[in-house]
Amino acid sequence: MKNHLSRRVARRFVAGEALDDAIEAARAVNDALQTASLDLLGENVADEASARRSAQNYLAIFDRIAQEHLDANVSLKLTQLGLDLGVSLCEELLDSIVSQAARSSNFVRVDMEGSAYTQRTIDIVKSVRARRANVGTVMQAYLYRTERDIHNLIELGCRMRLCKGAYSEPPEIAFPKKADVDANYVKLMKILLPSGIYHGIATHDPAMIRATKEFAREKKIGRDKFEFQMLYGIRTDLQKQLTREGYRLRIYIPYGTDWFPYFMRRLAERPANLMFFFRNLIPRRP
Ligand SMILES: Cc1cc2nc3c(=O)[nH]c(=O)nc-3n(C[C@H](O)[C@H](O)[C@H](O)COP(=O)(O)OP(=O)(O)OC[C@H]3O[C@@H](n4cnc5c(N)ncnc54)[C@H](O)[C@@H]3O)c2cc1C
Repeated sequence: MKNHLSRRVARRFVAGEALDDAIEAARAVNDALQTASLDLLGENVADEASARRSAQNYLAIFDRIAQEHLDANVSLKLTQLGLDLGVSLCEELLDSIVSQAARSSNFVRVDMEGSAYTQRTIDIVKSVRARRANVGTVMQAYLYRTERDIHNLIELGCRMRLCKGAYSEPPEIAFPKKADVDANYVKLMKILLPSGIYHGIATHDPAMIRATKEFAREKKIGRDKFEFQMLYGIRTDLQKQLTREGYRLRIYIPYGTDWFPYFMRRLAERPANLMFFFRNLIPRRP
């Protein structure tokens, strides 16, 4: 399945396989008055050489962003930088990327992966952040622990992206019901927004967006004090609407050859995406 067909369908969610594709997508996003976050797809690398190659690629991405004068930062996953192989290798590589980003006053966002990695991700981000402040991470509203983590990271001045969470987690550690995840999302948004730190509210859910706008209005939190974030290719209607209304919006642009796990998470999130996938299984008539 990881072939021609899925590649064609994946293009709905992924900008392409080469850095040039991501740069082109980021330029279009900037032209639409939105900012970008480039994600070179990849996770759970199996050896040190691959982890070091990923880090080198990220250094090159920051060079390219600066050369092209793009309004874009970077999102990455720690298992792409060898987290499965050891914390020290991973921290060393993240540190090198964060210092490269600092040279062009840019920012690195560390995505949050499955719960097996939550604590290590927070620990590594805190440790690298103690040296340079231009790194932040992601908080998942489906985890019970997140409220505590958010309070802790706010004390350190850490920028966070709030999302619902994309991995399959057991009820011992995560809200099983969507309604509870949504309620927690709103609760956490209300902790993040007044913190005086620039955070990202990442969602395509109109109810979450409405709650955020209302809360910001009520608390007189300016539109330049936070940003909404959405994924490339998802709810482009809402993306345009937020920009028209004068809200800041960052588009997360994934690219690269290792797109399969990302693509599967997007399919799993929404039954309609599976229909879209299966419709493409039916051969088209010439
Ligand atoms: C910028 C950004 C970064 C993210 N980073 C992380 C991360 O680091 N770690 C992590 O665990 N998760 C991450 N996520 C994913 C997130 O956790 C959710 O899985 C995903 O955003 C769906 O949740 P939702 O808030 O859009 O709400 P939902 O309730 O899932 O969806 C609301 C509406 O959005 C639309 N929608 C949502 N998903 C899709 C889709 N796949 N295809 C088509 N339409 C869709 C539909 O219209 C749906 O009704 C990120 C999401 C965004 C936007």
